[in-house]
Amino acid sequence: MANIIPIDPAQAALNSPIGLLRQVRDVMSAGAGSAQARLDVLVKTVATALHADVCSIYFARPGDILELFASHGLKQSSVHVTRLRVGEGLVGEIAATGLDLNLSEPQAHPKFVYRPETGEELYHSFIGVPLLHTHKTIGVLVVQSKAARTYTDDLAEILHAVAMVVSELAVGSKIVDLFDITGGEHPMLQSQQLSGTTLAGGIAKAPIVLHRPKIVIEKLVSDSPEEEEMRFHGALLTLQQSVDAMILQSGLEQGSVHHEILESYRMFSQDRGWIDRISEAIQAGLTAEAAVRKVQEEMHARLSQITSVYIQERVHDLEDLSERLLYHLQGVEPTAALGELPDAFILVANSLGPAELLEYDAKRLKGVILAEGGTTSHVAIIARMMDIPMVGRVENILNVVSRGDLAVVQGDQGLIYIRPSEDIEAAADAEIAARAWQVAVYAASRDLKPETLDGVRISLNLNLGLFVHADHLAANDVDGVGLFRTELPYLASRELPTVSDQQRIYKDALDKAKGKPVIFRSFDIGGDKQVPYIQIGDEENPAMGWRATRIGLDRPVIIRQQLRALVRAAAGEKLSVMFPFIAEVAEFDAMKALLNKELAKAREEGITPPTAVRVGTMLEIPSLLFQLPELMARVDFISIGSNDLFQFLFACDRGSPRMSGRYDTLNPIVMRAMKSIMAVANEYKVDVGFCGDMATRPVDAMALIGCGLRSLSMPPAAIGPIKAMLRSLNVRDLTSYLDYICTEPVHSLRLQLEGFAKDHGVDLS
Ligand code: PEP
Ligand code: MG
Repeated sequence: MANIIPIDPAQAALNSPIGLLRQVRDVMSAGAGSAQARLDVLVKTVATALHADVCSIYFARPGDILELFASHGLKQSSVHVTRLRVGEGLVGEIAATGLDLNLSEPQAHPKFVYRPETGEELYHSFIGVPLLHTHKTIGVLVVQSKAARTYTDDLAEILHAVAMVVSELAVGSKIVDLFDITGGEHPMLQSQQLSGTTLAGGIAKAPIVLHRPKIVIEKLVSDSPEEEEMRFHGALLTLQQSVDAMILQSGLEQGSVHHEILESYRMFSQDRGWIDRISEAIQAGLTAEAAVRKVQEEMHARLSQITSVYIQERVHDLEDLSERLLYHLQGVEPTAALGELPDAFILVANSLGPAELLEYDAKRLKGVILAEGGTTSHVAIIARMMDIPMVGRVENILNVVSRGDLAVVQGDQGLIYIRPSEDIEAAADAEIAARAWQVAVYAASRDLKPETLDGVRISLNLNLGLFVHADHLAANDVDGVGLFRTELPYLASRELPTVSDQQRIYKDALDKAKGKPVIFRSFDIGGDKQVPYIQIGDEENPAMGWRATRIGLDRPVIIRQQLRALVRAAAGEKLSVMFPFIAEVAEFDAMKALLNKELAKAREEGITPPTAVRVGTMLEIPSLLFQLPELMARVDFISIGSNDLFQFLFACDRGSPRMSGRYDTLNPIVMRAMKSIMAVANEYKVDVGFCGDMATRPVDAMALIGCGLRSLSMPPAAIGPIKAMLRSLNVRDLTSYLDYICTEPVHSLRLQLEGFAKDHGVDLS
């Protein structure tokens, strides 16, 4: 057994770790000279600084191979010859586990494999660390000495810091090509086609902006560890305070799932092990940012070996926490909305809430790509109102794009092209031009009546709430606003809008409608539409929780302010109000009583009242289907909200990517529900509108007409295709066909209805 040297002879290097890191940085980023020359100097520099006999660098190659790229000390003839599989030998073991090996007598290790070409048998000590980048092991850095010794922790830390700088610069200067490593599939360079789920139709071509931009670390090596340590602790404190504030603000109950998640954030943000590791990396010469990223990569490598779902979730928490810490260190905004934005861009996000989407300038935002997202989630609804294509469930999207990459979003097909080739770009340009032409064709046919071939007049109305354009409302084929989502201005605002703010918004819509009816829906806050100024708290099922009318009835001050604003806005005009999320007739009565109070108050205050008031309700909770006669006896009109009605009829979360597409809106159950609503409404002579998203799809809208609906409401962009459909439809034929097919308990009637349209020349384009 060789003599073990207890004191590390590389101690000299510990006195100046920053000096070594600077040399490494300078060697790696030297513009001149081949990559090989730079690596040759690098290994010599490290070996010399650490008084080691050998320093070698292995890089990953396609097919899980590690190749010796440069060595000081091993036989030069083995460079680019010695290759090991991931998992094979000591180097392969480090790459496979993402963990260091620090050994005296490495030959005794069970994983040791003998490679005669390297001359390795002469060396009695070995330390190897992985080179990590973007959660991949891109190589291994090895130091060996003839004397048997165990390298100290301090030296291991220095080697880690060196590895961090080498990894960043090797990738940055393209010495290591991620493309090469992943076998020709360089995710960040290649043109790629990805598919997802259509959330909003249309096509757009523009450069990408990341909603939460990944921090790019410009400076790796520090000037002063003391200063970096101070910056780190300052940012850490801000992070810890922001987590505490999140816990406080959320008002979450102890023991609830969300509370536990936030608590685990708090735990991590105070975790000594995590903090110490970052400090050690700073002491080894890295900047605070580089140290955070280094520890993030190492923890990821270590923990991702463990398959437990619990641990994987914690890995995610840690990732998130590290990114937040980097944001605090760099003082940048956590979302791109408030930063500099190009004139046109496509937004990429993991997920996006409606309020977050509304923070972006609607004129510049051309399309949205989400890693998650369900078709009737409110963010998708807003995208459709804004007429911007949105594709969701593109799971890998954040791993393959950078800010500035050109992208094409083809909303209708749910397709995404990243860094498109010239022919895809040309095809996209052609489609954009064709769409513009189609829009012009619809615009030119605006004076044609929305009437079916057999003379049935269908009332077409708009779903609005934001971006109210007078010309949309003035069109001859639009009868009015079937759904004004009053909560959307609430979402776009950081505080509760005042009565006069609200009054201005509603008055503006009434003015632009020029006498056409506008149905205002009282606010539907809650569910996925959270606002900071109404604390909803943690709920297991927010869509079925404290939402809309439920909030209004529990907090009458807020809803009465809104009703007051509506009454005042409609002074001297007709007012139509409906209440969302009514589950029982008694709730409708209670809401109507509040409206009556506001009307009485206006009279008392001498405010000009509306000339007529029509009061209705959304029908979007199935319980109401069992009180239809009582409901119809009270309301002036109802509006069917299929987005919620469908999710509750089928117990199928409208925002869940997994559930989207599981059940079909053209299920006979839906048809039957529509027909029974229409039967009771006709008996009570109550107007029925339909404002759910189903009405935007020509074949679905056709089916609704077949069920007896005569008034549909939709975003402006849907009017053209829906009118083209109904103008080519014979309702009588459709009704009898639908009566015939909808008795079968099948999953969907879509194919039959599409077949009907084809056979009868109904335009479903
Ligand atoms: C609906 O539920 O169909 C509806 C129109 O309301 P929202 O989508 O705003 O919940
Ligand atoms: Mg709804």
